[in-house]
Amino acid sequence: MGRLIAAGYVLVVQAVALALVALVICTTPPPRPAELATFGMLAATAGTVIVATTVSINVRRQVRRNPWTLHIAYLATGILTLPPNLLVLLLLGPALHGVLDVRPGLQRWLFTTAATTIATFAARAVIGWSQPRWGPVLFVLAGAVLLMVRAVLVAAGLWLRNPGAPREDVLGEPIDVLLGIVAASLGGLLAVAVRAEPASALLAGPPLALLDLVSQLPQWRRSAQRDGKTGLANAAHWDRLARAALARSRGRAQPAALLLLDLDHFKRVNDRIGHIAGDAVLAAVAVMLRGSVRREDVVGRFGGEEFVVLLPGADAEVACAVADRIRTSTAALSVPARDTHGRHRQLDDLTVSVGVATTHRFGYELGDLLAAADKALLAAKAAGRNAVILS
Ligand code: GH3
Ligand code: MG
Ligand code: MG
Repeated sequence: MGRLIAAGYVLVVQAVALALVALVICTTPPPRPAELATFGMLAATAGTVIVATTVSINVRRQVRRNPWTLHIAYLATGILTLPPNLLVLLLLGPALHGVLDVRPGLQRWLFTTAATTIATFAARAVIGWSQPRWGPVLFVLAGAVLLMVRAVLVAAGLWLRNPGAPREDVLGEPIDVLLGIVAASLGGLLAVAVRAEPASALLAGPPLALLDLVSQLPQWRRSAQRDGKTGLANAAHWDRLARAALARSRGRAQPAALLLLDLDHFKRVNDRIGHIAGDAVLAAVAVMLRGSVRREDVVGRFGGEEFVVLLPGADAEVACAVADRIRTSTAALSVPARDTHGRHRQLDDLTVSVGVATTHRFGYELGDLLAAADKALLAAKAAGRNAVILS
């Protein structure tokens, strides 16, 4: 049912976008030569940047995750300077990108293009349909409508498809919002320049290329800080977060505790069912861990099937209670997976051993806490696994 609603929503957004395009083509008078000249300069600049950045990305064997910042910039220029029918032609830019960047998920691409089309015309309606009015307040308003309408349409689609997705995945991170604002502002500046002299669009090429490069930043940051299989902080990033949290706890004279977790007999899952199933277990454990602790607790993937949690403010009693809750939740996990023959398997009987160390006994140095928690973890394994031991 949910999938049906999501598919229906996508169809409606695409139908509205198509209807708008048809309406614009039928109702707008042919463009004047000056408008055609502006369009030519803008399209040539955007097209060159799209082709150049695509070649550069292919040569460096990278994957472009977010091409939309670039499109938003020159679409903002078009909204302020072109008649609606030439705006339609400018919207072919994302289509060009879709063809050049061979990417999975054509459906998603079409949907985002449709959402962007609706947002573009909504922004145009703000400044006036046939004769755009110019003014700083209208500029800001049009930019806000472009970004907000697009964000709401896309977020609703993502949420309908996966209501349980983390907020960041649906709404984007603050840096995504900032990138959108920078793109719309650059587009506004370019519009002012282009109105005075259409050929000045060519000067926007390098900043647009830089914007495209910078808009990959959130993706680079995520892959530098997050572990790909679980989405948790990777070991290096967790180390930094944990040290900072420990320093804060020390400064406030508050206790803190460290949990070191290791799944029991995990090799058996890999050997008997397969490594893909093993990965599904790791992902499910990560979701469970995040749901078992507070926002300020720092969860990370320490290594293979080992996880770490730093609990600021927790004394031994609280830490052991959290560890035991995690131990019980692990035993209650039932993970859907596929074995090496592609058959569906439900994986339960998972258990975890946990070593606990507190600042009260071992101080605020992360290395000391880790060593103590590791010792307790070994003791939990020796005691027969599926256990919590306090160092
Ligand atoms: P113990 O109860 O003593 O911890 O037994 P164990 O089998 O969990 O311990 P061991 O350290 O022998 O095995 C850990 C296994 O974790 C070995 C490795 O194949 C597996 N592993 C490590 N990283 C990954 C990963 O990213 N994916 C999968 N599927 N398996 C992993
Ligand atoms: Mg291990
Ligand atoms: Mg293990």
